[in-house]
Amino acid sequence: MSDNTMSETGSDSRPEPSELRFVDRHIGPDAQAVATLLNTIGVASLDELAAKAVPAAIFDPVTADGIAPGLEHLPPAATEAEALAELRALADSNTVAVSMIGQGYFDTLTPPVLRRNILQNPAWYTAYTPYQPEISQGRLEALLNFQTMVTDLTALEVANASMLDEGTAAAEAMTLMHRAVRGSSNRIAVHTDVYAQTAAILATRAEPLGIEIVTADLRQGLPDGDFFGVITQLPGASGDVHDWAGLVGQAHERGALVAVGADLLALTLVTPPGEIAADVAFGSTQRFGVPMGFGGPHAGYLAVGSKHARQLPGRLVGVSKDADGSPAYRLALQTREQHIRRDKATSNICTAQVLLAVMAAMYASYHGATGLTAIANRVHRHAGSLAAGLAAAGVEVVHTSFFDTVLARVPARALQVQAAAKERGINVWMVDDDHISVTCDEVTTDDHVSAVIEAFSGGPAGGPVDFVGADIATRTSEFLTHPAFHKYRTETEMMRYLRSLADKDIALDRSMIPLGSCTMKLNAAAEMESITWSEFARQHPFAPASDTPGLRRLIADLQIWLSGLTGYDEVSLQPNAGSQGEYAGLLAIQAYHAARGDTGRTVCLIPSSAHGTNAASAAMVGMKVVVVTCRANGDVDLDDLRAKAAEHAERLSALMITYPSTHGVYEHDIADICAAVHDAGGQVYVDGANLNALVGLARPGRFGGDVSHLNLHKTFCIPHGGGGPGVGPVAVRSHLAPYLPGHPLAAELADERTVSAAPYGSASILPITWAYIRMMGAQGLRSASLVAIASANYIARRLDEYYPVLYTGENGMVAHECILDLRTITKTTGVTVDDVAKRLADYGFHAPTMSFPVAGTLMVEPTESESLTEIDAFCEAMIAIRAEIDQVGSGAWPAEDNPLRGAPHTAASLLVTEWNHPYTREQAAYPLGASFRPKVWPPVRRIDGAYGDRNLVCSCPPVEAFA
Ligand SMILES: *Cc1c(COP(=O)(O)O)cnc(C)c1O
Repeated sequence: MSDNTMSETGSDSRPEPSELRFVDRHIGPDAQAVATLLNTIGVASLDELAAKAVPAAIFDPVTADGIAPGLEHLPPAATEAEALAELRALADSNTVAVSMIGQGYFDTLTPPVLRRNILQNPAWYTAYTPYQPEISQGRLEALLNFQTMVTDLTALEVANASMLDEGTAAAEAMTLMHRAVRGSSNRIAVHTDVYAQTAAILATRAEPLGIEIVTADLRQGLPDGDFFGVITQLPGASGDVHDWAGLVGQAHERGALVAVGADLLALTLVTPPGEIAADVAFGSTQRFGVPMGFGGPHAGYLAVGSKHARQLPGRLVGVSKDADGSPAYRLALQTREQHIRRDKATSNICTAQVLLAVMAAMYASYHGATGLTAIANRVHRHAGSLAAGLAAAGVEVVHTSFFDTVLARVPARALQVQAAAKERGINVWMVDDDHISVTCDEVTTDDHVSAVIEAFSGGPAGGPVDFVGADIATRTSEFLTHPAFHKYRTETEMMRYLRSLADKDIALDRSMIPLGSCTMKLNAAAEMESITWSEFARQHPFAPASDTPGLRRLIADLQIWLSGLTGYDEVSLQPNAGSQGEYAGLLAIQAYHAARGDTGRTVCLIPSSAHGTNAASAAMVGMKVVVVTCRANGDVDLDDLRAKAAEHAERLSALMITYPSTHGVYEHDIADICAAVHDAGGQVYVDGANLNALVGLARPGRFGGDVSHLNLHKTFCIPHGGGGPGVGPVAVRSHLAPYLPGHPLAAELADERTVSAAPYGSASILPITWAYIRMMGAQGLRSASLVAIASANYIARRLDEYYPVLYTGENGMVAHECILDLRTITKTTGVTVDDVAKRLADYGFHAPTMSFPVAGTLMVEPTESESLTEIDAFCEAMIAIRAEIDQVGSGAWPAEDNPLRGAPHTAASLLVTEWNHPYTREQAAYPLGASFRPKVWPPVRRIDGAYGDRNLVCSCPPVEAFA
């Protein structure tokens, strides 16, 4: 393709034999296909298309050598082999030390069967959030196992399907308790011995909500006064294992709820939070087989008693039944809660950590209760012999009751001990000048324990020393008794289980996933390859900086590249999803106003078309959301905006606007919109989720934005993992740079506005984005945007006569996605967007985005990665479905019995002796013939969501349910 598309965007400065150019692997349409796209659209070149679609006022024309402004600093595109060699060199400059730092991150042995079949398997990592449950049963089952694992281990009744990390899970626990208590108190008591990053995130989150944190040693009991909640940790950050039953009783007497940050491995031995009547448990599932990865990604967890189930933020998988009455899984209770409740939502979480939750759940399945308990006992024994060895060497061990972490008092010698351990290749944690803590994990050996004792004593460790420490094995209840946790203990069984689950789902390895706003583009193998290298994966986020020069270099490269292509001055990679980037960006805006003494600016203008996370994030920073209306053509109503900006002038803090808009068009007025907000003293937040329509064409930091978040899991190739991980960097102009996220444990960052548990968030997946940018180069990135726009406009042209395209911009062009309006069709035929979405599964396709941002519509985003063949097949399926709709409209098929209403069709539902429907079985299963494309058989029929919400079941159902 390059010859054509590249000539549109300038010549490649370093010609390569074409088979080596990554851009040709990444971009679907080749030169001939691009010509077809352009011909259908009615333009002569990609550049003409861009000039027609993108408003001239913001359009960046390329320089003479074909480079878009802002991309000059990118090195020329590397081949896959070259990029991997550079990543190898970066990896090799890191040191993989033995990590005994603890503090919420533990080395773990990822079972190779899970690494290969989940983490390195596109059937798992390229899936999207399971909004279409009928073709997502595999990952929904895996997530139900995750929820069951968490509820069993914590002994609480309901757990959600992952939080972004432990620290934000603690913050969500705090706000959940605040909502649930609804009392007069705004005070929360937090134990002194929670992780530093947890305390920092709680402080960030509490401040704008007017929550007062009282930090105290809760082992001494609850401080005086009223509280709505209490947060403590088990074990504490210092390793202390304390019985919190007394505290829970005391808190309940005063009307406060209690949340315990609990280590799931420890809970195989220690009495779980649910059995001491705690209301909430939160934590991380990282040590269940998910590499530390310099901080992430990992799945956090949050569990509550059933009376608080409806307060749970994030996504909850529930059991329901399908049209034939068979059990089936789907997301329960307001699947996309922020879209419905907006600023009243329980949280702004959208993308979570599904892939990592699947890993952790399968780790629990693979080991089972006995295996996990054995691992926990081994970890505990190592900690015990370490404590004994230290005591024998005359070192004071502070706590007698511990699980995996031993706290040693070494007056004025901590630095020296840390250095001595480092000489032995071991990282320990220096608490302060007088204390060192050492954490054992699954990977710890007797040799590691001996080496640490030597580091403390300066001489050789004595012979093996027996375990010391209190008996912490107080748990008597069973856990993980469901067959899901003992059927898959051999590698053969686990391999087949993972395959059978993946086979139920449609991920990018089977079909295009034309989800508008989600940018489901290729996640190339070369991009993915390095994330499991131990030099990246086995890094503790608080390891000495000297261990991680390669990762730090990679982070710095990305910050420069992303700044350049967005036109901003600085970037923080800390936020773990787009929602978290929004939150961080709005915090920066609030801090900026406050620093100028401009207090009282609390109003956030948000267009009615905005993504639900925008309003939810604004509420989290204590802003009042004022909705700006849209015009009939979908654009923000500039008059309404001006009126509202004027009305709230003194109080205007920010405008949050998505560009190109969630309606899939480049609004012409964007520069005027930004100016109107600036004139009123407000800041402009440009939601950058749609950056795939801008890279190399226009820069939000130059056309009026003060801050944006980007979704590296959309535009920049991090796979969606079935609903996470994500990375949501926040990019700012220089005046906001001082207010970017900080971290208490990263010397190079300020100790303020911490939004994620790790300083660089989900650092171990950053090599994916690095490799993408490195291999595409400046021209390749611009080509990607152009082809994405061309493909979307092509679909808009091809489908408009069947399903009217709702909004177009200047010259009748859409941006990188288009909205198909089915509302008239629904009104005249009764066929709904649901029917069309489910019917697409019969054709072998994943549905587009349903009813966002406009109810009753489908939003289609093809991305640049889909070939013309695939795009044409999708269009043919949509056109054939339109013909089916007409059969319903004409009365040939009854409204209640037709292939649309009956979709999706399982094999079992067709293989019946009596077939009593007005359409044939062939029409049901092979509407365009058996050779149209490979048949994907949906495993269940249409799922009854309302039934599942009325009969809420959120853990593994008994096997008899499937009889
Ligand atoms: C995806 C998206 C978000 C939220 O991003 P997450 O990573 O899912 O939190 C916000 N705004 C828009 C327009 C989006 O498309």
